[in-house]
Amino acid sequence: MDDHPVSARSVQIQQAESFRMLFDFARKSGYQERRLEPGVLDFTFGDPHELPQPSYVKALREAALPKDELWFAYKFSQVSAQAAAADSLSRHLGVTWPPDRIRMTTGGFGAIATSLKSVADPGDEVIFSLPPWFLYESLALEAGLMPVKVRIDPQTFDLDLAAIEAAITPRTRVVIVNTPNNPTGRIYPEATLRALAGLLDAASARHGRRIYLISDEPYNRLVFDGARFVSPAQFYPHTLLCYSYGKTLLSPGQRLGYLALPPSMPQEVADAVIEAVESVQIAAGWLFPNNVMQYATPRLEELSIDVAHLQAKRDFMVAGLRALGYELETPEATFYLFPRSPVPDDESFVRLLSDLGVLVMPGRIFETPGFFRICITATMESIEASLPRFATALAQARGG
Ligand code: PMP
Repeated sequence: MDDHPVSARSVQIQQAESFRMLFDFARKSGYQERRLEPGVLDFTFGDPHELPQPSYVKALREAALPKDELWFAYKFSQVSAQAAAADSLSRHLGVTWPPDRIRMTTGGFGAIATSLKSVADPGDEVIFSLPPWFLYESLALEAGLMPVKVRIDPQTFDLDLAAIEAAITPRTRVVIVNTPNNPTGRIYPEATLRALAGLLDAASARHGRRIYLISDEPYNRLVFDGARFVSPAQFYPHTLLCYSYGKTLLSPGQRLGYLALPPSMPQEVADAVIEAVESVQIAAGWLFPNNVMQYATPRLEELSIDVAHLQAKRDFMVAGLRALGYELETPEATFYLFPRSPVPDDESFVRLLSDLGVLVMPGRIFETPGFFRICITATMESIEASLPRFATALAQARGG
């Protein structure tokens, strides 16, 4: 008798380092209880710390009121949601985006998972840069794909194009780019993205097989200092742009996102990819966002968390940490800071902070030891209260 109670693939996923660390942290470390303890300051996940805006609640409430007998029927992507998403993409990127090139998904996760399975086959390689979003590896493994990791440039936090080029093989099918980047907060510059597009075109031609680019960009509206966001989809026609509303609206549990193919993608390729996407959405377990979220999309497109306030929190915390002696870049976007750990062992430093009632994530979860991540969706009051504790942690780390 084969006595394995679970699949080899699920075991492989659990053994992926960042997945294991994340899963242990989120599910087994006592974090869920600890973050609610009085006096504990939580800077780990991109979760809300305050009640949602009334306009957000109103949009969902109105969308939940049935207007016909098919309101809660099985539905694919809704035309009104696609149109709202297309209109928003057109305005933000300055290109006219056809609504029929968009498919609504269960958040950014759903968009990435569906993209991977729609264009890549088991055994194909997927390249992404470290530090990554910690779930790329497990999403690739779950789809039967081979994760291939390269480092970013540690000085500039920009993509290392030479490293990406060197990692490409005849089995490479997808390169994932995350901009603005979680955890570094970097927006990849237009020149880098243009050069990447040229590199991917040349490599596709060399190997006689198209390499797709997945542009994971859920933070593309959370941009500071009037910076202009540019998407890889503007430069590489074979891009699958993945977006989530969970960041802009700070409501990640209400699953809503989309996958968008750029207008520059050749029509016959786009037709084939869209058909694959819809088929995978069904076959993988009806991965369409629920009807209420889709009906609400046009209203939700008009809303956002207060980016000016987020920027004020970033400014306060970056300045405060630097004044204490921490080393960190100023993030251009997202709601993360990625300081250097004052001691090489970031996990021990994170434990030290935790003992002082400050919860952050070690760089090792991002396969980047020597750093740690702070999420500033916490309130300004929490940020202010944290600085004396960051000072104590630094003194203790240096002292011992
Ligand atoms: N990509 C990145 C870079 C993320 O940070 C996240 C969420 N943390 C996602 C994708 C997934 O977003 P969602 O949970 O809204 O689907």
